[in-house]
Amino acid sequence: AKVNAELIWFNGQLMPWQNATVHVMSHALHYGSSVFEGIRAYNTHKGTCIFRLEEHIKRLFDSAKIYRMNIPFTQAQVIQACKDAVVKNNLQSAYLRPLAFLGDIGMGLRPPIDAQADVMVAAFSWEAYLGADAVENGVEVGVSSWNRLAPNTMPTTAKAGGNYLSSQLISTEAARHGYAEGVALDVNNMVSEGAGQNLFIIRNGVIYTPPGTASILQGLTRDTVFFLAKQLGYEVREESISRESLYVCDEFFMCGTATEVVPVKSVDGIAVGNGTRGPITKALQEAFFGIFDGTTKVPANWLDKVE
Ligand code: PMP
Repeated sequence: AKVNAELIWFNGQLMPWQNATVHVMSHALHYGSSVFEGIRAYNTHKGTCIFRLEEHIKRLFDSAKIYRMNIPFTQAQVIQACKDAVVKNNLQSAYLRPLAFLGDIGMGLRPPIDAQADVMVAAFSWEAYLGADAVENGVEVGVSSWNRLAPNTMPTTAKAGGNYLSSQLISTEAARHGYAEGVALDVNNMVSEGAGQNLFIIRNGVIYTPPGTASILQGLTRDTVFFLAKQLGYEVREESISRESLYVCDEFFMCGTATEVVPVKSVDGIAVGNGTRGPITKALQEAFFGIFDGTTKVPANWLDKVE
């Protein structure tokens, strides 16, 4: 579905949504040279707050650093742009999309060393990525025939636009097979991540997730799950996960900013546990959503009030 809001922040100013356009010769269109973030603002007990905003913007700048991309704004300026985009569009909750990209800098593949990125921040309403029903009842997923990027091809630590060609292959293949989402294996054929989510499985009361070496984006929701699991007294192990572990685990869930925390009820048509949401997944979901009504205590800077 097409998204919309009244205003968009583009290179330092808020402007009408339809005016925030780029030239067809933009470098990013031709060569994939963009880095971005996905962030959520929630209507919380403290008013509208952006979740882990500082860390998302740090990751944006880290992504740019990997690609030697110059962002002509400070992190503080982009943080303020995010807040402004929410406030000035009168949004109580929102999905935010900051993006830095190489624009009309010339045709050469190699960006001039002093090329400056264009930067935009959009904020708009975006409901549960995999559907409201998925939160309770879970989704069906399939292992993709497309592997995730190898560590020495394109770094998955950078949230770069080009990486999402891999995600598009995984996600569209999954849809063609009737799955809500695809699960990618890494180049060693161990479990990596979803097209836009990190993965967790649970077996005999222990929570497992692929390590940073498995060509994943180190998600902030993944990190939030680590925090919540610890609070609830569960052990989380970052370990290589084989494909067949997905078939015999007791519980399986995916998480990400857009997805939030969603149970998986089957993999390749094989039921996860008894095919319904498991108790640890449910407890973690409640703890996650509890962040936004104050029932779950988190570090103060995780909820950044917009004003
Ligand atoms: N992996 C990929 C490929 C993603 O696109 C995302 C969504 N940003 C994630 C994992 C989850 O990251 P986060 O929890 O920071 O949104």
